[in-house]
Amino acid sequence: MRRRDPGETLLTLPQDGARIDRLDAERKRPEWLSEVWATPGTRVLNLYGRRAQLSGDRLKYDVAAGELPAGAVTLGAVDAADLPGGEDTQNGRVHVVTVAHPKPEENGAANGVAEPADTTGTSWADLAFAGSQLTPVDAALLTQALAITTWHARSAFCAACGSATEVEVSGWMRTCPNCGAQTFPRTDPAVITAVLDAEDRILLGSAFRWGPDRFSTFAGFVEAGESVEAALAREVEEEAGVVVSEIQYMGSQSWPFPRSLMLGHFALTEDPSMARPDGDEIREVRWFTREELATAAAAGDVSLPTRSSISRALIEDWHGSPIEAASDAQPPRAGSAAPAPRGQQAR
Ligand SMILES: [Zn+2]
Repeated sequence: MRRRDPGETLLTLPQDGARIDRLDAERKRPEWLSEVWATPGTRVLNLYGRRAQLSGDRLKYDVAAGELPAGAVTLGAVDAADLPGGEDTQNGRVHVVTVAHPKPEENGAANGVAEPADTTGTSWADLAFAGSQLTPVDAALLTQALAITTWHARSAFCAACGSATEVEVSGWMRTCPNCGAQTFPRTDPAVITAVLDAEDRILLGSAFRWGPDRFSTFAGFVEAGESVEAALAREVEEEAGVVVSEIQYMGSQSWPFPRSLMLGHFALTEDPSMARPDGDEIREVRWFTREELATAAAAGDVSLPTRSSISRALIEDWHGSPIEAASDAQPPRAGSAAPAPRGQQAR
């Protein structure tokens, strides 16, 4: 078995190798967030909806200044060399804080979120599309920032008693002043599976909610009381009709839309003839050889999941090399110069 470094997966994923020290002991101190904000060199990752600004091909990190903004959350510390302009900071480490900018009143702003007044020449990173174009640390910080700020946006009230909750642990816990309940930014485990057969073909499905030419691996949430293995077998049989064995775990990816942890697997079916779509979520299932999939993707007959996704990583790991897909040119890229009109930003 090949040795792996901490944080490394069997798959090639955008965040591979990123090191962020979340500083769990320090962030529990009530003064920590203010201290980090006041530390020279601390950077701010501003979020606008699910996007962050780019400066060149890196995320744009602003220098912390002025009053600590409401809703700021610490992301942790990274090696200074991993951040643009981070070389000038002390101790070789830089703290990063994220701030999500609240939705304004209905004013027609892109994505329904107030963006900086002057965005001339600004480019944007949307994690779902740009993740694979970012450095591992940029991808990891943007993922973490989206995950934690989305959690705050949905956790204003106590699930037990309905009272307004208060933020603690530098943004990593909310407590209820009425009943004392504590809530944490948990994620929902979801299994995502590339099904193979004895001829080493891959089974992909096209969901009704996508265009008819888009094919991907099979995914579903682990339900209450269920193991990962049972969820995988259930989801694949429900959606695609096949019974699987020889399940192999390949790696995981945080997918904060809004709070999934994708657990990537390969699985084998001994009876590929059983494949059929469920007709509910899945419109069509299709077996592909490597050559069939590469040819169809290059011609644009089949669209593949974005390069940032673990689904694409599973497909390309099976294929043995990156697949050039015509569909990769279609989604809004990191470099799109203008904010997308409302509703056009991909969900
Ligand atoms: Zn409560």
